[in-house]
Amino acid sequence: MKAGEGRMMIGLEIHAQLLTASKLFCFCPAGPTQSPNTSICPVCTAQPGAKPAGTNARAMEQAVRIALMVGCTVPEGGRVAFLRKHYFYPDLPNNYQRTSTPVGADGLFCGARIREVHLEEDPGRYDIRKDKVDLSRCGTPLAEIVTDPDFSTPEEVRLFLKKLSTVLDYLGATRMEAGSTRIDVNVSTDGGRKVEVKNVNSFHNVYRAIKYEVIRQKNMRRRGLEILQETCHFDELQKITISSRQKESADDYRYFPDPDIVPIELSPREVARICADLPESPDAKAQRLQGAFSISAKNARALSEHKDLAALFEAVRPRDGKRAEACAEFLLNDTLRVFNYLKKKGLLAVPEKLEYEAEFFSQAAEAVASGKMTGKLARRLVQARFEAGRTGPADVETRQVEGAEIERAVHEALKGQKGAAEDYCRGKKAAIHSIVGEVMKALGYRADPKKVITVLEKILNSKQR
Ligand SMILES: [Zn+2]
Repeated sequence: MKAGEGRMMIGLEIHAQLLTASKLFCFCPAGPTQSPNTSICPVCTAQPGAKPAGTNARAMEQAVRIALMVGCTVPEGGRVAFLRKHYFYPDLPNNYQRTSTPVGADGLFCGARIREVHLEEDPGRYDIRKDKVDLSRCGTPLAEIVTDPDFSTPEEVRLFLKKLSTVLDYLGATRMEAGSTRIDVNVSTDGGRKVEVKNVNSFHNVYRAIKYEVIRQKNMRRRGLEILQETCHFDELQKITISSRQKESADDYRYFPDPDIVPIELSPREVARICADLPESPDAKAQRLQGAFSISAKNARALSEHKDLAALFEAVRPRDGKRAEACAEFLLNDTLRVFNYLKKKGLLAVPEKLEYEAEFFSQAAEAVASGKMTGKLARRLVQARFEAGRTGPADVETRQVEGAEIERAVHEALKGQKGAAEDYCRGKKAAIHSIVGEVMKALGYRADPKKVITVLEKILNSKQR
């Protein structure tokens, strides 16, 4: 190690909004609102005399589920109390934030120690440029996952967050909208003071903020400058961290137990029930898929990182190792591309009954693997099937087009595809794909592409003679 280059120690505090119908201490709906200050009541806006309406049991359960999935144990006695954490900011009408004692502690996840997981209420939003406050978010339940400073590179953090987001997706416990997960990042160099980058709003920005902070601190040390214990924020546009204030110590928050909230007892029986209901972990799923379907470890792991794809793969139940590998590849290459595109446009509709999709995916995967269908055509088929509003889940079972109807469509398509037909007859066999594409489009993607190809080959070959 060169002079001035200490070991970086990076710790994370991940605040994830929990997926609940209502807020933590009142009955206002939780989640995004159309316009500001619409999901509010006297409790979450801290009107004089308003008292909290108990603790949202669903939020508590979701926080416990998260804690258990990251290897934490529920503290002895299972008693969870709420503390008041005092600070003054326009988005916090109470002038304190309620934060719980740990619902789980001493976990280990993806090589990092998890110090604790606890529940917290989200503050509102304050727009400093417009000087306006929106209190709709006040009281939204958050789970805060606190790691020890066990990461030493931005890459380790990125891998950890990727694995964590997969687990949160499996649990279905947290909101997935942009900005619903915010991360505080602590960065320090061996023995040095801790710099906290607050409220980073995406996993990608966490990576960028750490990269910047690591370089900044290294440069400071090389120049012999003192690194101050401070809080900063990450400026998305400039991609740098900017100092906001000298960091408070825990004393500044003047924590004390909230006298309005009755502590919750998590009985061993309750914890055992939650534990029994937990989903299979992504790692366990990867191992199981690899063993049960004889697919490569790489594909098994990749499938396990996408809950929907893994479910589709299991619905297909490929009969042998070769088919299974082809199906996995089709899902991971072609299907994933379409899903990502539709997700980005907010148009993805994965039906609940995936068994209806089994036949489609097994045929499409085989057709692509054997070269009978291009990946492009297969992707169009997948898109037509999963695009919400076009062929929603209810349309998936619609009548398949057969026999004479396929022939009619083929003849019709050939009229507009003379060039491609001639190319095919001259030996350019790949030209068939564009005609198949036209036929499938004309039939609303409801025919079996293999049957279309058979009919088309028959007609074109008869022309050749
Ligand atoms: Zn409320």
